[in-house]
Amino acid sequence: MPEAAPRTTEHGDGITAIDTDLLRPIFDASHLVVENGAAALVDCGANSSTPLILATLEQKGIDRASVEYLFLTHVHLDHAGGAGLLMQSLPNAKAVLHPRGAPHMIDPSKLIKGAMAVYGEESYFEQYGNIEPIPGERVVVADDGQAFSLAGRELRPIYTEGHARHHYCLADSFSSSVFTGDSFGLSYRELDTDNGEFIYPTTTPVHFDPPKAHEAIDMVMALEPRQLFLTHYSKVTSLTRLAGDMHQRLDDFVTIARNHQYDDKRTAAMHESMYDYLIGEIRDHGFTGTDDEIREVVSKDIVLNSMGLEFWLDHQ
Ligand SMILES: [Zn+2]
Repeated sequence: MPEAAPRTTEHGDGITAIDTDLLRPIFDASHLVVENGAAALVDCGANSSTPLILATLEQKGIDRASVEYLFLTHVHLDHAGGAGLLMQSLPNAKAVLHPRGAPHMIDPSKLIKGAMAVYGEESYFEQYGNIEPIPGERVVVADDGQAFSLAGRELRPIYTEGHARHHYCLADSFSSSVFTGDSFGLSYRELDTDNGEFIYPTTTPVHFDPPKAHEAIDMVMALEPRQLFLTHYSKVTSLTRLAGDMHQRLDDFVTIARNHQYDDKRTAAMHESMYDYLIGEIRDHGFTGTDDEIREVVSKDIVLNSMGLEFWLDHQ
């Protein structure tokens, strides 16, 4: 195992963000919640993230046997790709999943096929390697709103469709937080300015559903959280403004998709419009770096978002 040096951020209330180091630094987070010696993880990156998560536990003096839950907001591989491998090192952990997601962690064959279709075979293997299944007896199917006790601290999965039909957000009333997976968009710390955090939706294939994506934002806000923890990337706090921006940008992405629906070179045209749109919005937000710096941060999302929007256009 290579020498692992995890990049972590302490957020108080026993919450730590662990950079899974997937694709680039501060892109993809796993969150650790510790209460009275008991631990839970929310999302876990890919196989290559496992040593970083285990090293964080060791640094913090948390016994691997004290990890009781691995909450997987959904089974997209940047959130759950490393779950099977990680579970092999967490002897007492149960993986908690939405009923539609659970079967795909027990038998990941469909998940692998789907991911290869999205990423291409070569970069799929490069990023995700061999996906290990989770034994069925270690998977817990969560009801909507079911309370899981972490040393008395209540953690509740809340079903939120829109990004994926098998997605949940995890509510933590103790810290007044919600771990939102991909239901409340992407907010990269590189794009923070004096105006605060910048946010935009993720519309990846194959379940993107605009009305349900709007509904998910309202469901998160209805919990009246003080802060959210996004997988991409970690804590955001200007929630009223960010919810408004999410609603607006969801509509704008859908408009861009519709504008290009019948174009000859639809994919390329959508990429260009999404770059123009996001660069404009990020500039309005007060970002002073170069266009190339913006492109570097948003390029992967633009490809995946276009793919999801095109799939949605073709299957309405
Ligand atoms: Zn994601």
